[in-house]
Amino acid sequence: MEDVKIMRLRTKFFIVYTCLAIITAIIAVFSSINIYNLSKSINGLMVHNYKSINAVKNMNAELYNENNSILIYLNKNKNEGISSFNSSKDVFQKWYQIEANNISETDEGNLVDTLNRYHKNYLELFDNIQQISEINGLIPSLKFYDNSIIPTSVNITKILNDISLLNENAMFNGKDNVTKYAVSSMYIIIIVSTLLIILGFFIAIFTLDKFLYPIYSLRETMKAVKDGDLKSLAPILSKDEIGELTTEFNNMAKRLRKFEESTLGKLLEEKIKSSAIVMSISDPLIVLDTDYKIVLLNNACEYFFNIKEKESLNKNFLDIIKNDDLYEYISKICNFKEKEVNPKITYINSNNRDNYFNVIVNILKDPENKISGLVVLLQDVTELKQLENMKSDFIGTISHEFKTPLTSIMFGTSLMRDKKIGNLNQKQFELINEISENSDRLLALVNDLLYMSKIESNESIFNIESQEIDSIIEKSVKTFYEQAKSKSVYLQYDYHEKFPKVKVDSEKVVWVINNLISNALKYSKIGSEIIISTALKLDVICVFVTDNGTGIPEEYQELIFNKFVQVKGYDSEINGTGLGLAISKEIIVALGGEIWCESKLGEWSRFTFTLPIDK
Ligand code: ADP
Repeated sequence: MEDVKIMRLRTKFFIVYTCLAIITAIIAVFSSINIYNLSKSINGLMVHNYKSINAVKNMNAELYNENNSILIYLNKNKNEGISSFNSSKDVFQKWYQIEANNISETDEGNLVDTLNRYHKNYLELFDNIQQISEINGLIPSLKFYDNSIIPTSVNITKILNDISLLNENAMFNGKDNVTKYAVSSMYIIIIVSTLLIILGFFIAIFTLDKFLYPIYSLRETMKAVKDGDLKSLAPILSKDEIGELTTEFNNMAKRLRKFEESTLGKLLEEKIKSSAIVMSISDPLIVLDTDYKIVLLNNACEYFFNIKEKESLNKNFLDIIKNDDLYEYISKICNFKEKEVNPKITYINSNNRDNYFNVIVNILKDPENKISGLVVLLQDVTELKQLENMKSDFIGTISHEFKTPLTSIMFGTSLMRDKKIGNLNQKQFELINEISENSDRLLALVNDLLYMSKIESNESIFNIESQEIDSIIEKSVKTFYEQAKSKSVYLQYDYHEKFPKVKVDSEKVVWVINNLISNALKYSKIGSEIIISTALKLDVICVFVTDNGTGIPEEYQELIFNKFVQVKGYDSEINGTGLGLAISKEIIVALGGEIWCESKLGEWSRFTFTLPIDK
């Protein structure tokens, strides 16, 4: 079946080529016929007329010889004359036969007949002159020769000349005819060839157009399909391979359309599902594109910010949500300036509603791993925050209530221990001492709890100023020199002058450094060293407090920043509340920095915190 179809296109081309070949063959045959006719004319011209002229020329020569032979017969030797005459006569006859068989012109036949008659007469005259010579002698013979033979010879010569002239004229006329014929043949060949070439040209144009039109039409449809118009189909204009190709292409386009329709359908379904999921989320959710324009927001977001999704779409985040802090945080995450570890708790006041949100930002990436958008989820943690605040308030109140009686207990015990109100026996002294130590520990706990609740409840206002980090560290370190010396610990601060200033509340940073140095002292052995150093990294200054004390087990290195976490199994003599590092973390994070710990158990510990530089 397919072979038959392939043949069809081949047949078409074959027909066109055959037509063109026939045209070429016609031109060739026509030209050949004309050239043949021309050569035939030239041949006739050359062969027939020239042959007659040549025969005439030879007959003339033989006639002259015959005349001479007669004279030889009369004047010299009769036998020689007769034999010479006969041989000339034979040659004459031979040329006469040639001419008689080569009559090509009208009247030439009559002239040849006349010539034959005259020559026969001439031969008879030779017989007559022989008799006259025998009977009457030389003189009458010569007379007969002059009066009869010569005039006959002249007549023969005249006839011969006429024949020659007739052929010469025919030759000249023939030359003109051949020239005319050649010219007309040339014109005919040119005209016929031109007509046939034009015909061939039109056949080529017509067939090429006919063959190529379906291809052009298919090409246009292909372009349309490429540009996304999957509905357009190519018309089937021929029942050959191109028609078959068009049918296959149309089938392909139909399948593509079906595929697109089904994919679109699925995509639509998925979109509806995702929208339903997004809408059902009870926390505000916003989807942004890479220019921070709103692509989608859910009902909770509409309700909380009192906005409408339709009016917000395609508008900039800041124009709709109007929260600079949130925008800054999102853009930092998008530009990878902020660690991808979300969330951040932020406070948003909108429409007289105070809410705390856990801001969770997810970056959307396309298959080429380029950022294609952001999903911002504002997880409402207001209730948790309120509970936490209540807890802090409660702890703060309790601690505060504790502090006054505790101070009077401590005052009383110190009076007793110093024997200001009388002597104590050994047992009483030891008891009072223990009460005093426990009171000290309790006061430290109460103080830490108070400080903690102050920071957590936002009561503590941060006095942010641009400060030299060195002066802050100096302020802290110098209060520990005596304590370190008494414990034979070498305390050193590696001073740096050139660092840019940091934007901090110096009092709180001093508190953090105090806590880190006091911990280092607490957990250092006699004779060990504590080094405080700084380093500048990108846009933060790092502060390191390194000791070669007990070290911290790996599983505790993150946990110790939580409240009341202390490493188990340490010397119970070491006093601590387990709150210092938790407070330090609160302060450093509030200042925009980070704090962490690295350690090798039994060898060293290093606490690092960062502070943003003042740009
Ligand atoms: P505190 O020191 O009052 O107990 P912190 O929050 O300051 O509370 O410290 C928490 C715990 O971390 C400490 O109890 C201790 O177990 C461990 N720790 C802190 N600093 C060091 C240090 N420099 N070396 C070893 N352990 C430490």
